[in-house]
Amino acid sequence: GTLAHVDPGKTTLSDTLLLAAGTISPKVAATALALDYVPIEQMRQMTVKAANVSLFHEKDGVPFVINLVDTPGHIDFSGHVTRSLRVMDGAVVVVDSVEGVMTQTETVVRQALEERVRPLLFINKVDRLVRELRLSPEGVQRRLVEIIRDFNGLIDLYAEPEFRRWKVDAARGQVVFGSALHRWGVSVPLGRRKGFRFDMVVEAYLKGGGWEWLAERFPLYEAILDMVIEHVPDPRTAQRYRVPKIWGGDLNSEVGRAMLECDPDGPLVFAVSKVVDDPHAGLVATGRVFSGVIEDGVEVYLLRAGRFERVQQVGMYMGPYREVVGRIPAGNIAAVLGLEYARAGETVVDRRLSGAGVEPFEALHYVSEPVVTIAIEPKRSSDLPRLIDVLRRMAIEDPTLRVTINRETGEYLLSGMGTLHLEIALWDLQQRTGGIEVEVSPPIVVYRESVRRRGERFEVKSPNKHNRFLIEVEPLDEETLRLLESGRVTEDMEWRRRARILREEAGWDADEARNIWAIDEHFNIFVDLTKGVQYLNEVKDTIINGFRWTVAAGPLAAEPMRGVKVRMLDAVIHEDPAHRGPAQLMPAIKNATMASFLTGNPVLLEPIYRIDVKVVQEFLSQVIKIITMKRGRIVSMEQKGRLAIIRGELPVAESHDLADQMRSATQGRAFWATEFSRWAPVPESLALDIIMRIRERKGLPKRLPTVEDYVK
Ligand code: GDP
Repeated sequence: GTLAHVDPGKTTLSDTLLLAAGTISPKVAATALALDYVPIEQMRQMTVKAANVSLFHEKDGVPFVINLVDTPGHIDFSGHVTRSLRVMDGAVVVVDSVEGVMTQTETVVRQALEERVRPLLFINKVDRLVRELRLSPEGVQRRLVEIIRDFNGLIDLYAEPEFRRWKVDAARGQVVFGSALHRWGVSVPLGRRKGFRFDMVVEAYLKGGGWEWLAERFPLYEAILDMVIEHVPDPRTAQRYRVPKIWGGDLNSEVGRAMLECDPDGPLVFAVSKVVDDPHAGLVATGRVFSGVIEDGVEVYLLRAGRFERVQQVGMYMGPYREVVGRIPAGNIAAVLGLEYARAGETVVDRRLSGAGVEPFEALHYVSEPVVTIAIEPKRSSDLPRLIDVLRRMAIEDPTLRVTINRETGEYLLSGMGTLHLEIALWDLQQRTGGIEVEVSPPIVVYRESVRRRGERFEVKSPNKHNRFLIEVEPLDEETLRLLESGRVTEDMEWRRRARILREEAGWDADEARNIWAIDEHFNIFVDLTKGVQYLNEVKDTIINGFRWTVAAGPLAAEPMRGVKVRMLDAVIHEDPAHRGPAQLMPAIKNATMASFLTGNPVLLEPIYRIDVKVVQEFLSQVIKIITMKRGRIVSMEQKGRLAIIRGELPVAESHDLADQMRSATQGRAFWATEFSRWAPVPESLALDIIMRIRERKGLPKRLPTVEDYVK
């Protein structure tokens, strides 16, 4: 894969690779001519949808297939970046030679190393060093050395000790420098072989327009693909050290051993990294085969969905074309039709393994959460079915996009990771629906509700008085939340392993750790602490449903609860199933939980962005002023030449006009990126006002609820 955030030239590089390698795919050679007529924009659109693309490249007369995993560029989509990393073994990190190693480079290098993906370096925009900075050949070389040193500094900082050996060495061809825009690039060994000298670059650019010659003599794709072949570990080598890191199951089991060996004769394990909706073929799941072979017609089992499905067709993307190949063995990226229930993050296995308790790949670490919502309504109600269909499909392709229906208001709500993310989604919606006219609400920020201490115990009877629950809530500690957020602890993992992790790493009581019944998507946990209650097992599912229903909308503003542990201490269940249905049990669970919640010092949590800004020194104070006026704070400041780099935090609620303010205060000279960072309590002075506004929007009574609303 290629990694970078906004602007160093990742897209330009990928285009170059696709254009060069896509046309020489041996199988499409006959039709390759057609490609000459495909404008690059169109090709980009096709390949953006195609996700993971395989490239064909010959090095020293030996043919290679390189699977290029798609990673989205904008920092708003970093959830996708982590998912993509899971299926790749090496990454070309793109750095702008003028900007050098930036905070965002640091983010991607750190993420890559966390998944044991080997980072290699492409220093782009070398033309700017000559044209803009007027550096001499020696100056250019010094600059490259500086960047390599900074890059290696990151590897030193973030790699596990045994992977510090991944520091890049230019002399060994682990760095390419050049210009993606002008399609030239070299590594040191390649340059030596082909007679490259730095004064050639200076001459080419200072004479103006001479770079075409560089592109002919030192084509970028050759330098990059040679580097990849040489220095990205082959799948068999990589899986040996990556599987223990990215898969939590038993390495000594049949599946574990097969994955470590990348064994095509082992049982099938296929990790889906992306699902795209191909207008002609339907849903296409692309991902990596970690062991076994995925084949046309085989029946497979989806660990997360808990379903059997049949593979219809196995193919791979060569350039923009999906080619049907029938079967793909371990170590490769496959594009699979027929898996209607597969989503990004799914683990697909041999059907024989359905009951074998095989671990799915760890829940993916999403860096971000959808924290901004808009309501969408078609202008013509006849467009509604089409709109819903398209929204549903978009949410399948992009799991960080959430579509919900507000039953009270009949609104369709689209939640994403930021205003920009939603703007892009709306644009996409327009493309896909052929321009259905929609009304869109201003973006609404999403909140959470939690407690700060253990609430009182409440015993609540069901409406028919035949059932009783004794419940109390308490906040989850930081360590438990961290385990949940990182996906180390999940609802569907093997319970003994979960209990052990909670005991050992978060100090949980053994009895509680063993009796977790449910964990919901916003990290609320239901624990059963009752002893010897009759009929409890018969109503377990109903109780869990009651818990999920309750934590989905807290008492303050009907926003989801977060980080709340609901402890069921005692219960009385009626012997006759007719008297213990959902209509009896669910309200009792809810009322007891809500009452305890209200006595637990409740708090409204708001999403906070991390913000990174780079700006020329003159405008530094304006940027600081904007951030602090928006209830933000500055975390660090650093100078890099004429640039100031500011890192800070700011509430999402204050960020809607950030772009306009930044532009006008800095004459457009500031670059910044925001990313979800954490949930934080809304300041006391604002909380009531915000709660009342949300209640009003949702049509709830305009007063704070009390315990008496839930317990009569
Ligand atoms: P991405 O955000 O990393 O995907 O970056 P893009 O590929 O979209 O490139 C960002 C901008 O940098 C675009 O305006 C490109 O034309 C420009 N760019 C890309 N490569 C080069 C290069 O080698 N030299 C110069 N001067 N500009 C480049």
